[in-house]
Amino acid sequence: MTRINVMQPWLGVEESAAVAEVLASGWVAQGPRVAAFEQEFARVQQAEHAVALSSCTTALHLALVVAGVGPGDDVVVPSFSFIATANAVLYVGARPVFADVDPVTGNLTADTIAAAITSRTRAVIAVDQGGVPVDLDPIRAICDPRGVVVIEDAACGAGSTYRGRQVGAGAELVAWSFHPRKIITTGEGGMLTTSRPEWADRARRLREHAMSVSAAERHASVLAPAEEYDEVGFNYRMTDLQAAVGIVQLGRLPEIVTRRREIAATYTKQIAEIPGLRAVVDPAWGTCNFQSFWVEVGPGFPLDRDGLLAHLAAAEISARRGIMAAHRQAAYIERDTGSIPLPVTEHLTDATLILPVFHQMSESELARVVDALRSAATVRGA
Ligand SMILES: *Cc1c(COP(=O)(O)O)cnc(C)c1O
Repeated sequence: MTRINVMQPWLGVEESAAVAEVLASGWVAQGPRVAAFEQEFARVQQAEHAVALSSCTTALHLALVVAGVGPGDDVVVPSFSFIATANAVLYVGARPVFADVDPVTGNLTADTIAAAITSRTRAVIAVDQGGVPVDLDPIRAICDPRGVVVIEDAACGAGSTYRGRQVGAGAELVAWSFHPRKIITTGEGGMLTTSRPEWADRARRLREHAMSVSAAERHASVLAPAEEYDEVGFNYRMTDLQAAVGIVQLGRLPEIVTRRREIAATYTKQIAEIPGLRAVVDPAWGTCNFQSFWVEVGPGFPLDRDGLLAHLAAAEISARRGIMAAHRQAAYIERDTGSIPLPVTEHLTDATLILPVFHQMSESELARVVDALRSAATVRGA
């Protein structure tokens, strides 16, 4: 029996050819491919400005920097997220304040944010967890009047929609990931999209050591203009090798989302017939790319979450524990993170698991996972 992985990137000869072309061109660092990828990404995701970066983590960091968040400020974040969401807040010397999430979507809501907002709150990072679009309008309605900047962590969100547009469309600051675990990949990589040209310009400089003249511009002339450094920047650049892969991947995005939604539809239909299991679904306000198809194991199921994971592993199916809770990690346990009770976060992180979904997944592999779930449902005397 071959193992079924939880995720597998979909890469083909087109990506190889695109990389070979960049190698042959002799320009492998940030250059024309990065610029082209940014333009294409902005078009596809309906964003005004896109700045390619080395990861979503660095995109979150720069989002906080350009929004002016720093020491003495609070930033409301979900604990129910990959740890990078909270870590970025510490990079700028601010305090992450953990808010709870909605039990159905796993996302922050206006209510959970309201319970965490104080006069020190400067920003909120709302995550499209697992690709489920966060309901941003009510969140903006409580944040905008207070001058609280809303940053969207759309690491998992490419190809999901919110109220008929791409997630992040028209938003002030959105961070994206191209790690292989996400919906499209460049190996490592990220993007910051923003509606504000001045924030895009500053992020562009900050990613390149805050140089006043970019390396690509200096290369264009024999006698390079002297560059200046007005502030302390970073090296958060993407390479043209990565961007070339990204351009091809972006072209595959509609197909990837369509196939993932087909697989999710099969899971949804089958899981509805298994008592004690509840699957993630499209929320009323949008559609999901099912970057992570998660299932909640309820008290009506004969196995608990870890028991079901073990049952699937015995069938060579590599499912995964659900989304983590950052506040339980050693890096955060001793830290002041606001002390707001997080019962939904703790329940979801303990009771959910993520099923395999990937573009190349065959019907027989899908049937194997469904069969394993069904057989787990008939385990007796657990
Ligand atoms: C994966 C992920 C990140 C980090 O992305 P990188 O590109 O690996 O830095 C941040 N936030 C969320 C919600 C993620 O899922």
